[in-house]
Amino acid sequence: MRPIVIAANWKMNTTPADAGDLARTIASRTREPGVTRVICPPFVSLAAVRDALEGEDVATGAQNVHQELAGAYTGEVSVPMLAGLATWVILGHSERRAYFGETDELVGKKLDRAVAGGLRPILCVGEVLADREAGRETQVVDAQLKGSLEGRDPATLLAAGFVIAYEPVWAIGTGLTASGADASAMADAIRASLVALGWGSAAEDVPVLYGGSVTSANVGEFLSEPAIDGALVGGASLKPDEMAGICARAGITAAARGLTS
Ligand code: PEP
Repeated sequence: MRPIVIAANWKMNTTPADAGDLARTIASRTREPGVTRVICPPFVSLAAVRDALEGEDVATGAQNVHQELAGAYTGEVSVPMLAGLATWVILGHSERRAYFGETDELVGKKLDRAVAGGLRPILCVGEVLADREAGRETQVVDAQLKGSLEGRDPATLLAAGFVIAYEPVWAIGTGLTASGADASAMADAIRASLVALGWGSAAEDVPVLYGGSVTSANVGEFLSEPAIDGALVGGASLKPDEMAGICARAGITAAARGLTS
């Protein structure tokens, strides 16, 4: 049975001075049976968030990680540096791809390193508006998956708790969202891509999240789709009221899918 995951991507927001309080407040207001919660603050706030979440069933995640273990990579953070700070990691976020030139090949290397180091990866994929308008969104996402997953062992990735987040780039931080039906169709296409990559029936075991301007008001549209297993939340994840609403709705889906018994 696939888990229901609500992952908060705080992006470049919060400081070590305020991140702990925010994480504690969110954790206390989002306890829902059957809902897996993850908070991904900036690197420098990971320790504060980890400490604030002690005793709470909320994981911490990084928003990125370098593909090498150590070396002359000024300003970068490696997998071993995250030991004790994070158990999850977001990889290939569209902002990393757009602003930092991350390619599918690089994301694949990061994925290998993250999995080898025991981090649970959330691999982000999604098309830009021009691709959607041209009707080539599934080809774009298929190419992203192929570019970063080809040759990887499905069993190894499944054992690492591999998660995919479908995030249409035009919906991130814009207030626009895909429809539930479109997100569901893409989740089906993502699993078909995995099958084409040799995953067989294991493709059905990979959770697919939706991300892109998710709020408490619209999350139900996605979570009511059987192919969608949660949300990667950006802007709304900094607001405890929003996170409370999103997780409450996720709890309804978790119960409906038999994850709470
Ligand atoms: C994200 O950062 O992954 C994201 C989906 O952001 P937002 O919810 O703000 O669109």
